[in-house]
Amino acid sequence: MGGPVVETHLWLEGRIFTGNRWCEALIVEDGRVVFAGSAAEARRRRPAGTETHRLRGRIVLPGLVDAHLHLADLTRVREGLDLAGAASLAELGERLRRWADRTPRGGLVGRGWDPERFSERRWPTVRDVDAVVADRPVILYHTSGHAALANSAALESAGIGAGTPDPKDGRIGRDADGEPNGLLFEGAMRSVGAIVAESSPLTPDGLVRTLRHAASFGLTTVATMNTSLEELGALRAATASRAPMVRVRSYLRISALERAYASPKGDPTRDPLRVIGLKAYTDGAFGPRTAWLSRPYADAPSESGLALGTEESLREPLDLGADRDLGPALHAIGDRALERALRLLDGRSGRTSAPPRVEHAALTPPGVWPTLDRVRPVLVVQPGFLWSDWWLGDRLGGERARWAYAFRTLEDRGHLLAGSSDAPYDPLDPWRGIRAAVDRVDPSGRSANPAREEALGPEEAVGLYTRNGGRALGEPEIGTLEEGAPGDLVILRATDRRSFVTEGAAGVLETWMGGRRVHVARSRGGTVKP
Ligand SMILES: [Zn+2]
Repeated sequence: MGGPVVETHLWLEGRIFTGNRWCEALIVEDGRVVFAGSAAEARRRRPAGTETHRLRGRIVLPGLVDAHLHLADLTRVREGLDLAGAASLAELGERLRRWADRTPRGGLVGRGWDPERFSERRWPTVRDVDAVVADRPVILYHTSGHAALANSAALESAGIGAGTPDPKDGRIGRDADGEPNGLLFEGAMRSVGAIVAESSPLTPDGLVRTLRHAASFGLTTVATMNTSLEELGALRAATASRAPMVRVRSYLRISALERAYASPKGDPTRDPLRVIGLKAYTDGAFGPRTAWLSRPYADAPSESGLALGTEESLREPLDLGADRDLGPALHAIGDRALERALRLLDGRSGRTSAPPRVEHAALTPPGVWPTLDRVRPVLVVQPGFLWSDWWLGDRLGGERARWAYAFRTLEDRGHLLAGSSDAPYDPLDPWRGIRAAVDRVDPSGRSANPAREEALGPEEAVGLYTRNGGRALGEPEIGTLEEGAPGDLVILRATDRRSFVTEGAAGVLETWMGGRRVHVARSRGGTVKP
């Protein structure tokens, strides 16, 4: 009753990293940081009615930012058939069979298979799927999201046959006789889009469950990429009706641009959902060899990837987006794609609230440095790919792979690197990315590029997922705990400033967003009230 209650929280006796410095106390009032400094000063300033939390030496970081993921696809994976980690074609078939048994009607959609993990050491084909499910359409996405496998029923209902030409921006996989082999690359996946949309609907409740899951890792802000109008509608419903757990920023796909909505004015960080940018693809991914390279693949000398769209076809939507204050975000994985993305982003700095960004920028050999240094887009990277793309040396050849995920080199050249997961195409867990940026090699010693010279320190790696994330979204107050920042914080079990990243997601005790506690780890004992 009465007027709005202003809640004030004081955290004491902690090791608090503001994004710039370490301090011991923090006051959050009405959802904002009003003080970060010494305990003595915090006690003097503490207003009456403040709720005090003793940290007992624990580490506190700004709430984490994932600058690039796909909330709709992630939700569909979480609520649908997950094929990640399948170690063989037989296991893929078994998971599909069980899912088909549980899903009595309609098409079947799965995601996450990775032929690099299969004991059979080959890509699956239409025959592998037909042998499991033949009486209804099946679409199974490759772990990269840049290729899909269809069964005969799906090919038939999409109208794909021996006489179907490849689309300009994609490829239909074929066997020796020219018959489709079930694999669809890049733009060729559009033809099965209707089956997928019908078979795995997106619900606001499903999105809320995904956001709750994100909060459990300490994430308080995420940017969802390539948003469709369907996803935007579901996101609005998911964020409108309840107190937000995780702030969502959206980069629309080009086809949704004509109906782009205007972001509401007012205090932007308190807005749970804002459309801030436009996402476009300029190439594919390393896994299916569709990333566009300046020289052929080392393990497939007749291939050098796929250019998606043309420079002219991409320029127009970026201009339209700029008129609506949508910042450009261009997907570029190969070095040749990066050069084209840089030409497209040249001169766009300062035109939109959200800065120009390149998504992935996975391969940055010295030849691209002059243009990269001049255009200076935000580079939205996925350190977790270091572990997932451990086979990259074969694709690129060792000498070229030396310039993949070259984070130290890019930081030293003054580039702003923002961390992200690209979930569901890689695990959502931001701690995995932080750890990969620090260690380079995974726990079994594998890496896409093990070069120690490219390693970041723990605070720098956390910086990728905090302050740099906020800056990548054009909201520099997000991702810090300095005065004026939103009260987004993650409390870790760790107390050691040198080793706080090693516990990973298991070390997250509490997540706070906008001054509200949105996640508490079960049975681990969070902060205590004195
Ligand atoms: Zn992505």
